[in-house]
Amino acid sequence: MIKQKKIIILGSTGSIGSQTVEVVNKYPKLFKVVGLAANSRFDLLLGQIKKFQPKMICIGPDPTGISAIDHPQAPLKLVRGPGGLKQLASLPGADLVVNALVGAAGMDPTLAAISAGHDVALANKETLVAGGQLVMQAVKRKKVRLLPIDSEHVALHQCLEGRDPATVKNLILTASGGPFRSYSSKQLHSVKARHALNHPTWSMGKKVTIDSATLMNKGLEMIEAHHLFGIPPERIKVVIHPESIIHSMVEFCDGSIIAQLSTPDMRLPIQYALTYPQRLPSLVKDCRLDEQGELTFHKPDRMTFKCLDLAYRAIARNGIIPAVMNAANEVAVEYFLDGRIVFMDIPAVIEKTMSGFPAGRRIDIANITKADSLARTKAEKIITTSFNKK
Ligand code: NAD
Ligand code: MG
Repeated sequence: MIKQKKIIILGSTGSIGSQTVEVVNKYPKLFKVVGLAANSRFDLLLGQIKKFQPKMICIGPDPTGISAIDHPQAPLKLVRGPGGLKQLASLPGADLVVNALVGAAGMDPTLAAISAGHDVALANKETLVAGGQLVMQAVKRKKVRLLPIDSEHVALHQCLEGRDPATVKNLILTASGGPFRSYSSKQLHSVKARHALNHPTWSMGKKVTIDSATLMNKGLEMIEAHHLFGIPPERIKVVIHPESIIHSMVEFCDGSIIAQLSTPDMRLPIQYALTYPQRLPSLVKDCRLDEQGELTFHKPDRMTFKCLDLAYRAIARNGIIPAVMNAANEVAVEYFLDGRIVFMDIPAVIEKTMSGFPAGRRIDIANITKADSLARTKAEKIITTSFNKK
């Protein structure tokens, strides 16, 4: 008999969160949802609360949230804000916390979940970009499992399982290249948020969709892979693969490359993380390679899509610099979505924010949080003085 997992879903109404609910609904005997957190689509959250009757929910800062949920009946406990997210993530008795929040705001709840001894299924890559060292140390100390949900890292996890780490030569992350893959810098100057939000192979939340279009997503994923698998950044390569069928690969010392392939559908990596170490039938359409046709591969255009190199630069400097880069990116993406800067300003804002920032020696949560906040202020100042269109 398989033990039922008590799970908490942070960001349950988002792209990853709602697909996590679909996976849970496919295997209702395997999972019991005991906690939910959201800051949007409160009608959806209300439906989830009615269905799962969790012990605790956390509503984000959106002022419409509380009235939408109305007065929750005991025993449902309602918590709020960043403190509430930490409280929910460390709810006693839970087995697994799915972190599908967006941005560095996901780091504290991840650490809270680990401290409470809960396993974590992590979609929130910004957690590892900002605080990878701390998170991995905490995972070791508390002997919990940290499983990625990001499709590339789930692919790598499968390719690496059971292998001798000493035989791994390179990790190869695949990237769709996003909607502007073959654009020149000149063409990129005039693209708008609505064009960037039209991703060719994946349907995702707004922030990660823009990150995919700038290639920052691959930069964040390179840092994520570095922390998860302990491979130095220079041995983590990126290849553009527009069909998104190969989700990533591992190259071994004898020249073999092992890849994981499947239909691009996040419900597969989510299920992998939720049911690990079991492998079960999923909701995902079979991958018919005979119908798929060509699989193609290209080098990324690093001159035009500068964010990828900014990420390599950030992890080379290490310390708090990846957190600074991440914070500047979050600010720049928000301004771009708002139409207040142009697409090509995104890497420029990040580069200027990182420039001159000391990497720091002691890495602790206070330093990372402070760097995150200083970087946001600096990025906003850079935008208002040099880039703002309004
Ligand atoms: P999203 O914007 O669709 O969803 C975010 C969720 O978090 C929403 O439910 C939102 O209401 C909730 N939330 C945000 N702030 C909150 C707060 N303060 N308190 C409580 N809830 C809050 O984002 P997404 O696309 O699902 O992405 C989530 C994470 O997964 C990101 O880190 C992203 O990079 C990563 N990821 C996403 C995909 C994808 O296909 N969407 C794939 C791989 C990795
Ligand atoms: Mg990914």
